[in-house]
Amino acid sequence: MKFRKPALYIQILLGLVLGALFGLLFGVDQNLLILEVEEDGQMQEVVLRDWETVLLRSAEGEWRFGAKDQVEIMHLFRRLLKSTDAPVTVIASGVKGEQRFENVRSMRKEQTIATVIKPLGDIFIRLLMMIAIPLVFASLLVGVSSLHDITKMARIGGKTIGYYILTTALAITIGVTLGNVVQPGKQMDTEARDRLLAAYEEDAVAKIEQNISVDFIDYLVNLVPKNAIRALADAEMLQIIFFALLLGISLLFIDRTKADRVIGFFDAISDAMIRMVDLVMLIAPYAVFALIAATISEFGFGILQTLIWYIIAVVAGLTVQTFLVYPLLLKTFARDVPLWTFLRELRPAQLVAFTTSSSAATLPVTMESCENIGAPKSVTSFVLPLGATINMDGTALYQGVAAVFIAQVYGMDLSLTQQLTVVLTATLASIGTAPVPGVGIIMLIIVLRSVGVPETGIALILGVDRILDMCRTITNVTSDATATMIVASTEKVFRSTAAQSD
Ligand code: ASP
Repeated sequence: MKFRKPALYIQILLGLVLGALFGLLFGVDQNLLILEVEEDGQMQEVVLRDWETVLLRSAEGEWRFGAKDQVEIMHLFRRLLKSTDAPVTVIASGVKGEQRFENVRSMRKEQTIATVIKPLGDIFIRLLMMIAIPLVFASLLVGVSSLHDITKMARIGGKTIGYYILTTALAITIGVTLGNVVQPGKQMDTEARDRLLAAYEEDAVAKIEQNISVDFIDYLVNLVPKNAIRALADAEMLQIIFFALLLGISLLFIDRTKADRVIGFFDAISDAMIRMVDLVMLIAPYAVFALIAATISEFGFGILQTLIWYIIAVVAGLTVQTFLVYPLLLKTFARDVPLWTFLRELRPAQLVAFTTSSSAATLPVTMESCENIGAPKSVTSFVLPLGATINMDGTALYQGVAAVFIAQVYGMDLSLTQQLTVVLTATLASIGTAPVPGVGIIMLIIVLRSVGVPETGIALILGVDRILDMCRTITNVTSDATATMIVASTEKVFRSTAAQSD
């Protein structure tokens, strides 16, 4: 089944552009905060607007913010409220003079029509997630049991993992190099640094406290589910892949008529799931509109200025990796895959990746896109779910830039050996920390630790993480699709659909 081309892609793109405009038009006022103040045991809501400076004062000390620092003010306020029992005082000054509020109990932004429509986007993400597990399980089972040759599966596995490790290492190297060339950390003054560290400290500490480490033996043991049904229910992708592979292989060894009944059943489920993707994609343009509108309307653009060089370095790296490295890899290792068909068919998946920031949610769309390009189910159903879980080149590249950036902000120049340690640790961490959500930041903590850069430094980049996450997810998904094409081509199972679709 094919997407209706090019209409779907154009529609999603239109949803994206209109959503961004809508988000800007109905943006959350960046210079407005709604405070809940306790006065004589009564709660009162007050609106704070048009401040030039805001001072937060608590028993811990006081911090001053400027007109564009809404997000930082909210983060620090939440941390102060949590960490001390003492009341927080907010003193704002602006054209209307000084306003002072003692005993502030809560602080939030206003809601606009652009933030209110976000649930439509959330429903879309949930629908895609709902499809992913049965789709992966059914197609992988059918794919493996139709191979008739187990050594072929082992070869595909070897190629896939080899590709994932190499492209991840390459991506980090590009990231580290860009960090050295652009030197984003040297452009940040100490005042901005201290403000960001204070504002995002709580979020950073929460992540560090998860204290995840890479243990390969544990990792291998955990590939085997204790309970196959629970693995499915908990969406443990690697365990699901393991179980589906083993079940598919076992089916090859039982009575053919019995096996065919099971394979036929899952083949029908797999087809129905693909049909479901088509149905869900009908709402994609509206969902993309809602998701982008909400993100743009809420985004604190003030922080962009502070971190602009860091953002430029990450985005430049992602662009090189996505639009230069992968096409080159395809041209070298998958000559029968028409590049334009690849780029064109992958566009819906890339747009969904950008808006949802999740390779896992995008997986059903990526699978369908890759099948449209000409890769068979037996390859897509193995290479893509594995990639969505362990292969994150965009994330790795961003780790490279981030590690160098944070070190620079702390005035540390990483030596060549330290930079090589970053590449090695981040590559291993990207594989070894697979089943954990929010993998990007967790990998970064491990990397910083390995070269002695303060882990709390992640606070510096948390404010722009959402927007960069959207960009790096495009790269993650494109890398998985490239791997699929290379495996399909080198296994000689790629069937070009270019003639039909051009
Ligand atoms: N959002 C990314 C993905 O799902 C992962 C990350 O960078 O944290 O591919």
